[in-house]
Amino acid sequence: MTQDDRSKTNLVLLTVDALRPDHLSSYGYSLKTDEALDPFRNKIAVFKNAYTYSMATVRSFPAIMASIWPDLCETKVLWQYVKKLDIPYKARMLAEIFQDHGYHTIAHTCWTNFLTPGQGYARGFDDYVGISREDHLPPDSLFNSFVKHTIYTMRYCPSKKMVHFFERAFHWLRETYNALSKKNLKQPVGLEGRNCVTVTNYILDRLTALEPNKPFMAWAHYLDTHIPLNPPEENQGNRDKLHAIKRILNEAILKQKPIRHDLMPVLLDLYDRSILHVFSQINRIFKFLERRDQLKNTCIVILADHGYGFWEHGYWETPPEQFYDESIRVPLMIYHPELSSGMPSIEQPVSLIDLAPSLLNICGISEENTFFGESFVSLLQEKSSVDPKKSIWIETIDDSHFYCRIKKQSKIIYDQDGGRFLLKLNHQDRVDSLLESEQKDFLDDLKLYERSKREFAEKIKT
Ligand SMILES: [Zn+2]
Repeated sequence: MTQDDRSKTNLVLLTVDALRPDHLSSYGYSLKTDEALDPFRNKIAVFKNAYTYSMATVRSFPAIMASIWPDLCETKVLWQYVKKLDIPYKARMLAEIFQDHGYHTIAHTCWTNFLTPGQGYARGFDDYVGISREDHLPPDSLFNSFVKHTIYTMRYCPSKKMVHFFERAFHWLRETYNALSKKNLKQPVGLEGRNCVTVTNYILDRLTALEPNKPFMAWAHYLDTHIPLNPPEENQGNRDKLHAIKRILNEAILKQKPIRHDLMPVLLDLYDRSILHVFSQINRIFKFLERRDQLKNTCIVILADHGYGFWEHGYWETPPEQFYDESIRVPLMIYHPELSSGMPSIEQPVSLIDLAPSLLNICGISEENTFFGESFVSLLQEKSSVDPKKSIWIETIDDSHFYCRIKKQSKIIYDQDGGRFLLKLNHQDRVDSLLESEQKDFLDDLKLYERSKREFAEKIKT
């Protein structure tokens, strides 16, 4: 242990799946969903306009953990229409840099299919819990397709009894498969694997086992706020009625069709209570570090990978062609012991592709030209040096290639394949007219942006 180690700033990165900022009290929501942060609020900077790079878990995390755009990754089909993206070998993962600088690195990715070692997400972690290499089954095996269908059915299964039945069936199948193939699949399925209490327990256990002065970087991914929503049972009231409602909700979401007007408050209540539950666990992390006198040198970052559509604009989840705020805007809150108290929230739009370099900056780690993104940390200082006219890009490539640019609070969407502007959105209102000068400004901006991407891609290849 060196003197240098003791003065290092620790990092706790908390990613909460599909968490919408407009459902957090920190962002003005009427319910106290994240009041668990209140005791620490005077050292928390709230970024009011943070945006994901792309609005699906699989496409958002390359930007968060490696500061690269998702199409630098190699795409592989995981099963049916679900794709996974492999982080290129030459791209640097945030955790690798922390590890190289003497940090102990810990992650629990909540058994998310898109955050596996095979895709690069365990790179740089001393302790990693998630779907491991052994949990990858041969993609063409009959067992694999049966398991995937079982998991998929369970995902939308509204009844706890049915879920428990599937869990027991899967457990039996997994053990039989292990016995026959001499493999050791460990992946839990159903509710057991996606509980914020389990994830938090793991992180706190690992931190407890560390030498007190060893610097650390910890990453927890929480899934409780993603459909299906299962906040703790004790508050749920009439269980049978709720299960019936959940069945209707889950089917509507699966088939992309609207639900009865009176059911929406039930769905939003489940969502809000799931948020409350996750923040109770985030509070445990703060309290744990406070007890150990480690809050004074730890930065804690809370964010989401993408938003979630609750049929405000006629869709559920996050279809790739929808750039409404409910899909692309994410919460981003940074606790830092040296922040001046009572700091106003930050209105300047920021992108999650710029998060990794910002976190290095906050923790005092200098690494030149590692990431595609640029640090926005100066926004936390009194005199901001970040260009207020900076463009924030959101990009999706699915059946078609779309760009969305946020600049000076306005949003323009461009269909690259069709060479046409779809619409301009100001806040959430549709404004269909786009001046010629605005189109030219956008296309000039896009050219510059694509050039900087090409230059970075060359570096990753060589
Ligand atoms: Zn997600």
